[in-house]
Amino acid sequence: MHGTVCTLGLSLTAAAALVLAGCGDDGGGTSKTTGTTSTSTAPSNAADSLDAPEGGNDDLPNTDADGTAASSGGPGSTAGSTAATDTADTGSDTDTGDDTTGGKVEACADTWPEWINGTACGDEPALQVHQVSPDTVIVRQSLCTNFEAPFIYMLFGTDRVLIEDTGAGGVQIAETVNGVIDQWLARRGRKSIDVVVVNSHAHGDHVQGNAQFQGLPSTEVVGTGVNAVSDFFGIDTWPTQTVQYDLGGRIVDIIPIPGHQSSHIAIYDHGENWLLTGDTLYPGRLYIDDFAQYVESINKLVDHVEPLPLCQVMGTHIEMTNTPGDDFPFGAPTHPDEHPLQLTGAHLTELRDAVNAMGGNAVYEEHDDFIIFP
Ligand SMILES: [Zn+2]
Repeated sequence: MHGTVCTLGLSLTAAAALVLAGCGDDGGGTSKTTGTTSTSTAPSNAADSLDAPEGGNDDLPNTDADGTAASSGGPGSTAGSTAATDTADTGSDTDTGDDTTGGKVEACADTWPEWINGTACGDEPALQVHQVSPDTVIVRQSLCTNFEAPFIYMLFGTDRVLIEDTGAGGVQIAETVNGVIDQWLARRGRKSIDVVVVNSHAHGDHVQGNAQFQGLPSTEVVGTGVNAVSDFFGIDTWPTQTVQYDLGGRIVDIIPIPGHQSSHIAIYDHGENWLLTGDTLYPGRLYIDDFAQYVESINKLVDHVEPLPLCQVMGTHIEMTNTPGDDFPFGAPTHPDEHPLQLTGAHLTELRDAVNAMGGNAVYEEHDDFIIFP
């Protein structure tokens, strides 16, 4: 990796919890929704000390509990009977994409778990909770519960936590998510935080758990259609307008990217310097509903992240194996030797170049880390 590494607050404790103090959250504005274009604050200096775990989230009340005493297992460790929290994250380090789409990466999540892969049904949890950093969590649904095995993202700000996607059904996702939230609150001595549930897109394997959140206190579930998404985030001109949404000291850019599905959004997170791409780009089969829109959306994503620091490109499934160009069969119940979840800016530009070269007609095309699958 190159770029400027700002803080790597490594605390490998007895529980081997790794805490990454990101420094992307450098206060990029506070307005709730603004403007037609996301304006990103240039990364602030990387002067935070190398071992100060609070480097990235200085707007949050504390991160020290995580950074210095993560041995308690971190949030989610008791997050519901069906969940398990990673405590010994080893596994694939993947380089970051800062070399392809510009911007300086300050600190990137760089340690990833062995994701549950359906090979130990009966032993593996229905939901796996991975604490990326004090304010970021990824949840994976087990293949043993649904072959889609989608990923769910939790992004905490000081005012609200954004939940992206709710799984493919058949699991107690709200119980697990709320368990994570409870522990986050407990570490900060807080009683509540607003919860916003939004979907990357409206396909069933990403929205099935929405109903579990309906009616919960301090919780809003954003509808799945274009109008509902636009109304909630203040998007006046879908899909050309990108807006910013403030979680409280943590800005996310909401980027409409129809093509795989008409109400699909991407989220650029200024906290982790992540681009969350849903089903539009992930290590798997990229199904395309409207190719013209898809191409426009991919072009837009490249343009969007070009001036920004970009650590990883994170999607919502894994369907590739670790063998380049090789995917698991559709509906495969197990994923031994899975490709890592995280992709890079290089993959995004690779996809852009590929779909633009198709001249308006999508064709099946295998790449090492994804398959264009019209
Ligand atoms: Zn989908």
